[in-house]
Parts: sequence; C-alpha cells; structure tokens
Amino acid sequence: MEKEQYLNIKRPEKNCLLCGCSLVEVEKHPSILAKIEQEPTRKDFCPTCWEKIQDRDYFSYWLTKRIKPDNTRRLTKKERNNLLLRMFEFLNAQKGEGNAYMLFYISHLLMRYKVFNWKGTRAAPAEPENNIPERTLLVFENRITGEEITIQDQTLDGEKIAATKKEIDEYLLNNLPEESPEDIIE
Ligand SMILES: [Zn+2]
Repeated sequence: MEKEQYLNIKRPEKNCLLCGCSLVEVEKHPSILAKIEQEPTRKDFCPTCWEKIQDRDYFSYWLTKRIKPDNTRRLTKKERNNLLLRMFEFLNAQKGEGNAYMLFYISHLLMRYKVFNWKGTRAAPAEPENNIPERTLLVFENRITGEEITIQDQTLDGEKIAATKKEIDEYLLNNLPEESPEDIIE
C-alpha cells in the first residue's frame, strides 16, 4: 500500500493528456489507470481524443464527472473535513467487512487533510476460532481528540479506488451545507 500513489490516482488532470484542452468544463470524460513501470498511473482524456486512441492499454477505466466550478457551491475545508470524519466514524462504528475499503480510503483522506496523524502499522494476531488470518492494521490518531484509530490495511485496487472516490464525492456533494463559504478548496 503506497499512500501517495493512490492519492495521486484520485486527482483528475485539468487538461486532456493528448490535445491539452481543458477538462474542467467537460461534463464527463474518460479516465484510465495504466501500469507504467509497475506503478498505477492515472490518465485523463477528452472524449474526442479517447475516440481516436487505437491502442487502449489500461487495467481500469471510468468516466470522470466534472463539476463546473462556476455554478457550484464548493465545500470549505472545514466542512469537508467534518463530513469525512462523520462518515468515517459512522462506518467504523458499524464494524462490517463491507466498509473496510471505504474506511481505508477515508482514513487516508483524513490524514492528507491533517485530521488524522499517521502512527504506523501493527500486526493483529490471527483468530483461528473466527477464521480470521493474521493481518496488518494501520494506526492513526485523531489530532483533536488524541483518540487512536486502527483500520485494516487493504491492497491497492484501481477500480475500488474509483468506485470509492465516486461514492465519497457524491456524499460530499449531497451534503453541502447552506451557508456561504469562506475557505474554498482549490
Ligand atoms: Zn483531447
């Protein structure tokens, strides 16, 4: 698991990789993950260029939905952090296996946004009676409360990242507070 690697995969490019046109105004455009020297690398294209590409070499493909910056109210950093933390705490309290990847993803976002501190990894012993093998836990600390948070490590997976990112973006978009922003995210 490489933190920086998948945080980079998350970010869409401002311009088409081939013709350089701005992708910010495009409603939807193709994005892929390709392996370059074993590293998953994100590439964004405008729909026109995508049609022209003959040799489409990728292991993950999705349509990136762009939100027009002009007519969309943006979250402030504080609002975003609060929403992400709330979502994390809600999912973490549920303790379901189905949330593992989402928790993994959000915890890294919270670390990037300096809500969590990275503390390291820890081995969790196997529980043969519950059929659980030994696994690696990632340890974070809530910077405000000092609370220690552990989640299960996950294997990097381009498709899961894309799906999780989409879900989180939609969640953030649907939970836009009403009041006017002060601290707009770039
Ligand atoms: Zn293009």
